[in-house]
Amino acid sequence: MPTPSTKIALVTGANKGIGFEIARRLAEQGMTVLIGARDRERGQAAAEKLKQKGCDARYLPLDVTREESIAAAAAKVELEFGRLDVLVNNAGMLHKDDRRGAPSLVAFRETYETNLFAPYAVTSAFLPLLKKATAARIVNVSSGLGSINLHSQPRSPLSTSCVAYATSKSALNALTVHFARQLRDTNIKVNAAAPGHCATDMNDHAGPRTPVQGSNAPVHLATIDDNGPTGGFFDEDGPLPW
Ligand code: NAP
Repeated sequence: MPTPSTKIALVTGANKGIGFEIARRLAEQGMTVLIGARDRERGQAAAEKLKQKGCDARYLPLDVTREESIAAAAAKVELEFGRLDVLVNNAGMLHKDDRRGAPSLVAFRETYETNLFAPYAVTSAFLPLLKKATAARIVNVSSGLGSINLHSQPRSPLSTSCVAYATSKSALNALTVHFARQLRDTNIKVNAAAPGHCATDMNDHAGPRTPVQGSNAPVHLATIDDNGPTGGFFDEDGPLPW
């Protein structure tokens, strides 16, 4: 059971990939971690894995694209804990048509639902609980592909496909700045993290980095102290250009 000083963290899309590693590392630091997942079996299995390591991890049903699911999750956290110290908006998607370079409008919209509208909806729903914590942290798991600056350079090394994904992450960065400004007179810090290209289901395990490496920047930003930044975009080596 968490004590009054135990931090409560919610990681969305925590049943696998980078989200699972973020959840594991926050739990290993002593936080009570809520494994946000839309599939009960996958969510419970992930929580069970962490419990077997001695962590306090609990499955929280959460489909980030469904408003009623978000509302139910926030109500459950309010009832059980009365606050939230860390929110990691990790759940994300890359549509297969987008990877091929010509996403349909349906694929484009689906991408924005998960990668942009959902972090907005989840953050908004949990904001009253984050405000009840002493020094809450919000981390939006973005991507280097969201950097407009890098994209606009003539010799940019970034992929020219994934337009829906990349622009959804640029917009997520803008959302990060918006929330950071909105919350600048509070103790809440809001930052965007780029994991780097990691081998996960999202890219058919094509990335050269591991999900553990991908969790470095999000975990760091979820645990920064009061001197840490807000309204920034970082990878594990430091600030990234917008
Ligand atoms: P992943 O292994 O495919 O994991 C994605 C997670 O998001 C899964 O748990 C998935 O749940 C969940 N999710 C998707 N839609 C959801 C919804 N509507 N409700 C709840 N959960 C949902 O991919 P990953 O690489 O770990 O991605 C994690 C984050 O890192 C994403 O935001 C991604 O954009 C970002 N990122 C990844 C890379 C990379 O190279 N892998 C690079 C930069 C940024 P299900 O199991 O139910 O599908």
